[in-house]
Amino acid sequence: MDIAELSGVGPKSAALFRELGIETAEALLDYLPFRYDDLRFPTPALRLGETGGEENAVGLVVAVKERRVRGLEIVELQLHDDAGTLFTAKWIGRNRYVVGRFREGMRLMVRGRVDRIFSGPVVNVAHYEALGENEPYRGELVPVYRASKELATRKIAMVVKKNLSDLLALAPPDPLPPALAAQRGYGSVREAYRAMHAPQTPQEAERARERFVFAEFLALATGAQLRRAERESDHDAPVFEVPASLLERIEATLPFALTGAQRRTIEEIWNDLRRDVPMNRLLQGDVGSGKTLVAAAAVLAAAANGLQSALMAPTELLAWQHASKLAPLLQPFALGVEAVFGSQGARSRRAALEKLASGAASLAVGTHALLTEGVDFERLGLVIIDEQHRFGVEQRARLRGKGSSPHTLHMTATPIPRTLAQSVYADLDVSVIDELPPGRTPVLTYALRTSRLSLVYDLVRKNVAAGRQAYIVAPAIEEGENALTSAIAEAERLRRDVFADLRLGLLHGRLASREKEEIMSTFVRGELDVLVSTTVIEVGVDVANATVMVVLDAHRYGLAQLHQLRGRVGRGAASSFCIFVYPDDTDSERLEILMRSTDGFEIADEDLRLRGPGQLSGTIQSGAADLRLGDLVRDIDVYRAAKAAAEEIVAGDPALARSEHAGLRAVLTAQPSTRALLLSS
Ligand code: ADP
Ligand code: MG
Repeated sequence: MDIAELSGVGPKSAALFRELGIETAEALLDYLPFRYDDLRFPTPALRLGETGGEENAVGLVVAVKERRVRGLEIVELQLHDDAGTLFTAKWIGRNRYVVGRFREGMRLMVRGRVDRIFSGPVVNVAHYEALGENEPYRGELVPVYRASKELATRKIAMVVKKNLSDLLALAPPDPLPPALAAQRGYGSVREAYRAMHAPQTPQEAERARERFVFAEFLALATGAQLRRAERESDHDAPVFEVPASLLERIEATLPFALTGAQRRTIEEIWNDLRRDVPMNRLLQGDVGSGKTLVAAAAVLAAAANGLQSALMAPTELLAWQHASKLAPLLQPFALGVEAVFGSQGARSRRAALEKLASGAASLAVGTHALLTEGVDFERLGLVIIDEQHRFGVEQRARLRGKGSSPHTLHMTATPIPRTLAQSVYADLDVSVIDELPPGRTPVLTYALRTSRLSLVYDLVRKNVAAGRQAYIVAPAIEEGENALTSAIAEAERLRRDVFADLRLGLLHGRLASREKEEIMSTFVRGELDVLVSTTVIEVGVDVANATVMVVLDAHRYGLAQLHQLRGRVGRGAASSFCIFVYPDDTDSERLEILMRSTDGFEIADEDLRLRGPGQLSGTIQSGAADLRLGDLVRDIDVYRAAKAAAEEIVAGDPALARSEHAGLRAVLTAQPSTRALLLSS
């Protein structure tokens, strides 16, 4: 049913609805409000203006003042509310047609933003209703819709209200099987739509919202389950034979013993590789936990079977670090590593591509450049994706497409609280390296006020004098970005006033990747004493000789991010320092968690508790989930229930052929495939 057929929608507003993506009545029904203005109760005049938002007040008109100034109507009414408190209602504007409408003794409801001036509250009236003398005010919960400049939420609400029963008749089939809906205590879909668009109470709306969130999650989780089932029924992945002795042979090449967690995760991965079902595993490990070695063990297993591997990282810097850390681990096994970067010269690129195509190289390490045409493998058997949330579903699939049903290992240093990871990654198996290599001297962590920066400089100096290096991290690149300390200005100042005799480098995201790499490798070679940087060094950069990390404006970062930055030092045997510098007028309570704990997962949990789910769900959902209503972190309990239900549904009816699953099947078929794939691959 076309949107233009609804009452209250003319050709002009129909066009505006279409601009919002609402082309049909069905789409309007499905256009759910994201919050409500609670206008059920008038605000007593004494308390008007407390919320800062629109408020409504009811009162008896005691004085009317009207003026017309150059086409502007100005009407000011004095009213007193039921408690006898005076307030003002004010209209101002062109063609408001309010002049002459009001008389003393009328009872009115007025709604609008409130200014509080010394003579009392003034309601700038956006909407009013005349009430009968003894008519009680009966307000509503007013739904607020995402609106456009030309199409106000009020207009959308009006059209919905006018056509509500017609719209409800168009409700789609329930995506929830009836038994499941009943078990969850949800009413009918139609009732849920009614409660969303015209709730009697906030509780009713909240309950209806949960039903929609549950249905959304159920589709998501069912999609992922179906994918897992499909993947597990594809018995076409290369089966690896991993010799039992490989682990010892690896260890024999290392100057240290593997940690228990490394052994366990290597075995988990190898067990996946021994199957003909493509692996889809996430390797989570805190900074410094030794993920590189685990990845190397997977590459070695592939190579032992004559198969190549490809590792894709989100930035050149990271890819470069991976390559330089993996090469020495693979070298004792005579395996070649080739790098494929965008900024690479044509000649070295051609040489790399030849070795990959001929099979002479066992591992390709690179950025998105790996995805380009012309990057071909002789036999790609293993795909490793670093910080997988920074890539889109298609990109990950494209890399896998360079092999035939290769195994996939995702790696991340972004700690996601265990409880969340297990449930959120529906189609991923999760391995956690939950143990750091022994003998690490913990990083000495301090929080310092900006006024004590000179202490920090002394510390940097002392370490540099001992042959060590330091990072100084600033939140902004240039000055003028939200009054944050700028890396460029800070580098200049330090060079001039503080560390004139030291070798200082500057690294930030706006430099060309070539330049970034150049600076980074100069630092790695020990030819710089101090590296001033933005958070481009956040993940993965590894310089064992760096022993001081200074983070300026530390209050601007999330705890997890600060923990990542801290992970850049303490990578060698020497004792290391991490100093979080915060302005004198803020407090350091949040930073104290970092002084107490070195466990990335615990810190992530705290971060979640303190900052709320938004940040974290950004990480989890970015690049993948385009959830309409639900939030994987805030609504995690609903998600868990939906996931359990999805498992049951797919186990019992993998084709979703039963009639009670028709609604769910319809949703899954209708939605773009990427939505069903979400976090799964
Ligand atoms: P991650 O990538 O997880 O942050 P890395 O793989 O870069 O960690 O390892 C960090 C450092 O720890 C590297 O210098 C590495 O050589 C070292 N390392 C890895 N495993 C062990 C181990 N079992 N014992 C001692 N040192 C280790
Ligand atoms: Mg690493």
